[in-house]
Amino acid sequence: MTNALTLMSQTPLIDGHNDLPWQIRMKFNNQLNKVDLYTLQNTHTNIQKIREGRLAAQFWAAYVPCETQYKDAVRQTLEQIDVIHRMCKKYPEAFMFATSKKGYTVIHKEDIMDAFDQNKTASLIGVEGGHSLDSSLGTLRTMYQLGVRYLTLTHSCNTPWADNWLVDTVDEPSQHNGLSEFGKQLISEMNRIGMLIDLAHVSERVMNQVLDLSKAPIIFSHSSAYAVCPHKRNVPDDVLRKVRDKNGIVMVNFYNEHVTCSQIANLSQVADHFDHIKRVAGYHIIGFGGDYDGVNRVPEGLEDVSKYPALVAELLKRGWTSVEVKAALGENLLRVFGEVEKVRDSMTGIPPDDLPIPYEEVKNDCRTGYGYLVANSAASGWSFSSLITALIFTLNCLSV
Ligand SMILES: [Zn+2]
Repeated sequence: MTNALTLMSQTPLIDGHNDLPWQIRMKFNNQLNKVDLYTLQNTHTNIQKIREGRLAAQFWAAYVPCETQYKDAVRQTLEQIDVIHRMCKKYPEAFMFATSKKGYTVIHKEDIMDAFDQNKTASLIGVEGGHSLDSSLGTLRTMYQLGVRYLTLTHSCNTPWADNWLVDTVDEPSQHNGLSEFGKQLISEMNRIGMLIDLAHVSERVMNQVLDLSKAPIIFSHSSAYAVCPHKRNVPDDVLRKVRDKNGIVMVNFYNEHVTCSQIANLSQVADHFDHIKRVAGYHIIGFGGDYDGVNRVPEGLEDVSKYPALVAELLKRGWTSVEVKAALGENLLRVFGEVEKVRDSMTGIPPDDLPIPYEEVKNDCRTGYGYLVANSAASGWSFSSLITALIFTLNCLSV
């Protein structure tokens, strides 16, 4: 254990996915004033456990369920982003928002290392699920400006432009055979603005398409190895090798169902995923993506965020070198971030993509067609028929 703690004092542990913000919504309706994050109980995460676990940087998930799709997904996601910002402001001695000081074109490595030097947890935001964008590139860009640094393309539902993993279990029919044209536009726009593309939760076809299309390395923020546990949320070996070729990262998920494909799991079985990924694609693509507070069952020995050092000790016991462990702890993610920022910088001459998704691909009763309707009507402005259409939209929405 001493060796594990020494390595963790030299290299920041960066975790890809933690759902504490969702717990704050569900337990307190986001009333952070009523919460003491030092002593919070019945969660995997509180500040005391974070310190014990040497958690140096965390992507906090701004997650809202698929039920919000076509309803209030954007508002609810903004509220989750807000609660993460408030968390950092309320506990400045514990958290440092990773873009707090230097603004839009920050080099994230510096921010994460600054926080690490000050014994604070660098805090980043990942939006989990493309439904949170409501099919809008403007929303994507705005979320980046609010500090969002990765987007998981889908959660467990299709969006109007990408298929999710349930397509591979045949629980949900494929809508797009992977990505639609708009989905492809979105990948390129994410490259342009420097947002990490997260492939946890997408269908295997989307994984492969994005690995082919993206100019920058991709991440799996919380997924394990399919060969060890054949769950469709996990990553197959051929995709692991593509991630390696693309210089990306797979951050291993600790959820029992993804570790052993059963309700029971232990720390050693999580380490089996680390070993497997290293064997198939090398230590350069491995990271930690605990999924704490997003799942109801975690392995014996990894009960909460205080237990990361035990897993690091297990890897060392299995013969992982300190170079390999440090790579998995944080160096791999920092490399991915650096490359994503390099691609962003190489695209500075390219204007923002403002071609909206075709209206017929997102048409529903509660979506207005402003912009689309004007474009389709007479040059003089609103046509009679577009006004009637708008009126029908309004009446439909009022009646839901
Ligand atoms: Zn998830």
